[in-house]
Amino acid sequence: MNIQGIAAETLEFILNVSESSYPYEFAGLLQARDGIISEVLILPGTESTDRSAVMKLFMMPNVKSAGSVHSHPSSNINPSKADLNMFARTGSHHIIVGYPYDENSWECYDSRGKIIELEVLDVELEDEELL
Ligand code: ZN
Repeated sequence: MNIQGIAAETLEFILNVSESSYPYEFAGLLQARDGIISEVLILPGTESTDRSAVMKLFMMPNVKSAGSVHSHPSSNINPSKADLNMFARTGSHHIIVGYPYDENSWECYDSRGKIIELEVLDVELEDEELL
């Protein structure tokens, strides 16, 4: 799937969840609609270390995803070795968010851990599902 970018609202949601999870980490899968990343499937019970957050992504059933997202409790947003293994299995776009979880403290990587440009798109998200 050709990904054009991420919805501004979705990125804001990711930053908020990362911040409220601090000092714990959260991890989730990114889902795209019409080429725009607009949904995050959050994993329940994400644990406190980077390793376990990533391990939970490994254990996800085969959900079709555009990629993954997880937070780091530090300002280091470089992917770890475990992150890279997980990236290779969960899609093409991978966001890592780091402290202090603002609009400048995240990066998007491809499935091999190379930084890629992810455009933030100001789109209206329709049909929000309330769970
Ligand atoms: Zn990580």
